[in-house]
Amino acid sequence: MIRYPTFQPTDNPLIFKFIKNLSDRLIKGKGTGPACRIYPCSEHSISRSQISDEALKVLSRLKQSGFEAYLVGGCVRDLLLGREPKDFDVVTDARPEQIKTIFRNCRLIGRRFRLAHIYFGRSLVEVATFRGGDSNGDRVLENGRLLRDNVYGTLEEDVWRRDFSVNALYYNAHDFSVVDFVGGMEDHEKGVLRLIGDPEERYREDPVRMLRAIRFSTKLGFIIDPGCERLITTLSGLLREIPPARLYDETLKLFLSGYAVQTFELLRRYRLFEILFPETEKCLAREKHGFPLVFLAKALENTDIRTGQEKPVTAYFLFAAFLWEPVRARVEAQIQNGQNEFIAIQQAAGDVIRLQSKTTALPRRVALPMREVWSLQPRFKNRSGDRPFKLLEHPRFRAAFDFLALRASTGDIDPELPDWWEKFQHSDEAEQKKMLHGSNRRSRRRTRFKSSGKSPAVN
Ligand code: ATP
Ligand code: MG
Repeated sequence: MIRYPTFQPTDNPLIFKFIKNLSDRLIKGKGTGPACRIYPCSEHSISRSQISDEALKVLSRLKQSGFEAYLVGGCVRDLLLGREPKDFDVVTDARPEQIKTIFRNCRLIGRRFRLAHIYFGRSLVEVATFRGGDSNGDRVLENGRLLRDNVYGTLEEDVWRRDFSVNALYYNAHDFSVVDFVGGMEDHEKGVLRLIGDPEERYREDPVRMLRAIRFSTKLGFIIDPGCERLITTLSGLLREIPPARLYDETLKLFLSGYAVQTFELLRRYRLFEILFPETEKCLAREKHGFPLVFLAKALENTDIRTGQEKPVTAYFLFAAFLWEPVRARVEAQIQNGQNEFIAIQQAAGDVIRLQSKTTALPRRVALPMREVWSLQPRFKNRSGDRPFKLLEHPRFRAAFDFLALRASTGDIDPELPDWWEKFQHSDEAEQKKMLHGSNRRSRRRTRFKSSGKSPAVN
């Protein structure tokens, strides 16, 4: 592990600015370098009306305090495409401690990357200090991978720390131009995702960039530059070194972007899915065109429809779907060995959650409801006495019912079961009682976990 000393900047913005200007002039002269292209206001399509009031306030306050201030990253890329950005990221030459003195509503966060969050009620604008390329300051590397990166620098240097050229365009708050050091505008026009610098080095430095390539390619409809694309399958294993908590966050971003179906296909094509969901991939590989694939495709299609309609999609439902086949296969095997179905589900859920947590951490708020969704599945089969009424009152009834319907829509169970429950939950009490009576005969006929047709292989 290489550890560089920490550089402590002055907190006084005016003294800092003076020293910085002097050193800029002494060391290299102020300028943007030969590779830089500036697109004035008239040559790009971004208008201030597309930018949130909060982001404009942050830019103008930094400017008034004598600092450089730019919008950067996804927001500039999305504004150029005429899309509404998810969030606005600001970058400046002010140090985190200085940003804190300018904004009262500011909190400094992060260890790997120290950032300032400026709060406006419930929304926030993230402000980062330009990162530098040299080895002064607080940077920690291990096997070529960045563990911490708090080396501050100039705008020119900050560019080289970004991932794709289209994410490295800077919208200047001083004259509203777009500053481009890496041909990002051209790539943007061509619809190409190209890593800045040597692709292999950049993937090794942060393997999550492989996942980001897939996410942006589906979200923007951009192609991945062939030089960057062909390395993904070879280097996919590097993702195993990423902490599970970060991979969990990235997985959610991948599948909640509104393009889950395409993302899933690409992740499988580049052999990244098997890193994120090893147990699921084993099941998919066993039954190439069978139920597990159809089930997941349907779950992801529903996720995309909900995201498109701006309806909430819960992480636990998504993970419940991803991990259902490994759970189901284990349950089926245990039932064949004479195990009780309820106990079999508990054991299978425990095993699968433990294995999955090695790759993507599963917070308790996700693991618990996910386990409930699975555990409630056999309870839907019991349609006599008080039990259906108790199930209706269960806090996880709705999600478990949706999961049941999803299973039925892909042939895992007979659709008659969710149809019955659909009617039951919307009937009055008298009708419900009649249904119970009539359902006793039906429920006896159908109580087994449906077999996938092949002998279950449990790991
Ligand atoms: P989104 O629309 O998902 O917010 P984004 O490009 O803004 O996309 P963020 O994760 O918000 O993505 O990151 C903001 C910017 O920070 C990126 O555009 C990129 O310039 C830089 N960045 C983020 N993650 C990385 C990374 N792993 N490696 C290099 N640069 C990164
Ligand atoms: Mg962003």
